[in-house]
Amino acid sequence: MAEFVEGWFLGHTLGEGAYGEVKLVINKTTGEAVAMKMIDLQKHPDAKQNIKKEATVHRMLSNPNIIRYYGQRSEATMEYIFLEYASGGELFDRIEPDIGMPLWEAQKYFKQLISAIEYLHGHGVAHRDLKPENLLLDDQDNLKVSDFGMATVYRLQGRERLLEKRCGTLPYVAPEVLQGLYHAEPADIWSCGIILVALLSGELPWDEANPQCVEYIAWREARYMSLTPWKKLDTIPLGLIRNILTHAPTSRYKIADIKHHRWYMQNLRKDDSEDCVDGGRVKSLRYDDEDITRLGLSQPEFPDTENQSLHINADERPGFSFSQPAALEDLFLSTQPVQNTQTSQNTFQRLVRRMTRFFVKTDYEETVRRLVKSLKEQNYICRSNDIGIITVYTVDRRKSPLVFKAIILEMDGQILVDFRLSKGCGLEFKRCFIRIKERLDSVIFKGSVTWPVGVKTKTMP
Ligand code: AMP
Repeated sequence: MAEFVEGWFLGHTLGEGAYGEVKLVINKTTGEAVAMKMIDLQKHPDAKQNIKKEATVHRMLSNPNIIRYYGQRSEATMEYIFLEYASGGELFDRIEPDIGMPLWEAQKYFKQLISAIEYLHGHGVAHRDLKPENLLLDDQDNLKVSDFGMATVYRLQGRERLLEKRCGTLPYVAPEVLQGLYHAEPADIWSCGIILVALLSGELPWDEANPQCVEYIAWREARYMSLTPWKKLDTIPLGLIRNILTHAPTSRYKIADIKHHRWYMQNLRKDDSEDCVDGGRVKSLRYDDEDITRLGLSQPEFPDTENQSLHINADERPGFSFSQPAALEDLFLSTQPVQNTQTSQNTFQRLVRRMTRFFVKTDYEETVRRLVKSLKEQNYICRSNDIGIITVYTVDRRKSPLVFKAIILEMDGQILVDFRLSKGCGLEFKRCFIRIKERLDSVIFKGSVTWPVGVKTKTMP
């Protein structure tokens, strides 16, 4: 593993953002972990200004449900942003397509989201790109709002300004944002409403909340009770959603209204959510281990390593701390990075759980061969390179481009195949993943830790 600066080692890639990869960085002595956004200024010359703005907004925020901003490092052609590391991955990985998640869990995340937004708006900051992919989870399963790339200050010294930049991710964007001038708060609240629909139903209600979209017209005209996703929801959460997804921003629920709504005030718990007496649950939808096994979604699967669960409590994890790292300043100083010092990254890799991956019984070459063959049989266009990355190109059901990567790597003497979305809808990506996994079933190690899947979409350019 390469040493980034003295004492800090580069771990694996956590994800891909608009301007480049996000990597894990670990302090060798203390085991502290930090997420590092890497921005290649040669590839993205326009990024510098945007990153400066992102940092300016993000650095002033401090809230338990918002990813902490630690600092920045500038080099000639690279810019680095250091952030609190969210080891639980993205919220969208917990959403099962067409199903959602248990009610108590959806309510917990929604409350944490509302709490973060209340804090943001209290400080005059609009996020403007709220969606499950930008909601990360820490090692205790607490929601953390991330990605302040679109954020802006809309209220300063008590004076609010109207916004006009059309930004966000289309299915989550409020109708007034598509039209022009808009108030910041109702627009963010709208996106929270769409997120709640995704959490409760595993679906997005429409591609875009515009007057031409048939699903949106039906919703506005209240002709939706027999339509999905609405028919899956019970009346109380649906009542809340109706008041949030209200076309006119002035009539839309405000945060205080949401917090006083009957569904929000119910204290759903893990044990009683399935039998919730107040009609708050998703109708006749349960998901349990059996459903998940049926869907073939067991992840991550560590052969014979079930005790090495990825979701270890912080205090059971010797040498790893998720409080603010102590030796951070070393990261911010702009010296040249040290390269190519070898150390083991296996322990670090275990800190992340991700559902789109599996271990196989075959060796490296055989895995590549089988995977490429299987992908070609499924009519995917794929391109392999010689470092074990297969890039797969296809189109989804809506004929939108879908690009993802299968990364084959050796870990603890086992071969891991890790799938990662590069472009397109996450829901479609995960449907592809399930089909690929089914076809390789005979060589996949079976495990018992299971995570459901969700909806992932791309930000408007
Ligand atoms: P972004 O550039 O913020 O869109 O991040 C791209 C992806 O990297 C996200 O969707 C996450 O999967 C991952 N990621 C970003 N920030 C963090 C973090 N602080 N901790 C863990 N993973 C992260």
